[in-house]
Amino acid sequence: MITKAKLKHKDRINLNTFIVLCIALMSLTTSCDSAKEQNKIPVYAWVGGPGESTDTEIKENFEDLKAKGIDVLMYNGGQNPEVYKRVGKIAKSVGLGFHTWIPTMVQGRKDELKPEWYAVNRKGESAYDKPAYVPHYTFLCPSKKGTQEFLSNMYRKVAAVEEVDAIHLDYIRFPDVILARGLWDKYGLVMDKEYPAYDYCYCDTCTTSFKEKSGIDILSVEDPTQVTEWKQFRYDLITNIVSLLTEVVHSEGKQINGAVFPGPNSIAKKIVRQEWDKWTLDAYFPMNYNDFYLEDTKWIGEVTKEAVTSLDNKKPVISGLFICPNPKNKTKENDPENHGLLPEELEDAIRESMENGAAGICLFTPNRMTKEHWEAFEKAIYKTY
Ligand SMILES: [Zn+2]
Repeated sequence: MITKAKLKHKDRINLNTFIVLCIALMSLTTSCDSAKEQNKIPVYAWVGGPGESTDTEIKENFEDLKAKGIDVLMYNGGQNPEVYKRVGKIAKSVGLGFHTWIPTMVQGRKDELKPEWYAVNRKGESAYDKPAYVPHYTFLCPSKKGTQEFLSNMYRKVAAVEEVDAIHLDYIRFPDVILARGLWDKYGLVMDKEYPAYDYCYCDTCTTSFKEKSGIDILSVEDPTQVTEWKQFRYDLITNIVSLLTEVVHSEGKQINGAVFPGPNSIAKKIVRQEWDKWTLDAYFPMNYNDFYLEDTKWIGEVTKEAVTSLDNKKPVISGLFICPNPKNKTKENDPENHGLLPEELEDAIRESMENGAAGICLFTPNRMTKEHWEAFEKAIYKTY
């Protein structure tokens, strides 16, 4: 009896000690986790869907991304608000931020959009039936009332969805009047100046409105590429679209941000007419895709610094990073779309971004990340820069 009682007592002590130890360990790991989380840099990711995926499949994918360290999705799911409601609910249930990634000036042909609302190049060809470079380059003209109304209504409906935290604009620009250097070979072009086929918009609305404003008849100018006012006029057309959409989205109580070309001065203004340091967005996601410009990871730091400085450090800059999907084949690949950061470059790219003032990074795309990329990524994101 005594022995048994003693044993019982001893067991109880052991059990109590065990419980105390467990609690101590649990709080230790929790505090380790929260310390780890506190040092974590914000990570965004461009992703698309949902295709034919079921809710369970979407949830599993989102849980996986969350576990890997992604905080916010820039989700491309078309223009139907119902899709964003469904997918946004799942994103929220796993603790992810949810921004809708929807192209702006590039719009496919559809009944709602009149052919005359599309942009016209210096040769007089419309992007509606003769798009530059690739078939999907069906850019709208920013001057047209129809364009403005279509975009306002489309983004307003999506911003009104409860699960949507922010609208993410993309293709908020003119077609590339100059292609990024890394793309010249792919398209067999030497873009040493602004050529007529890629120079937009010379529609009646744009040219008339410019004449009223400046007194210059751009159609009668021998070399329009030398007219500074004409360049500024077109930067302003895009800036005005951004202002309009900012008002629409803010009136729904949501944030608005956008994917932009690096710069703005070094690249964005020159090649796609984005004077984005004048814009009204809540955050900027420069696509610091070094391989497209035949540059290295050090350049990512330089353009991040330019972005942060241009915005006077007043708005967050999230550095967009382009991932190489098949690192072993990179040197054999001719198409820059298959280039991008190798696993051994990723830590450097993240460090360059963060040390130069970025408020986070954005991956293009998680699907392109290999096992080796994720390993390098984990080392780089739980750090104070
Ligand atoms: Zn126009």
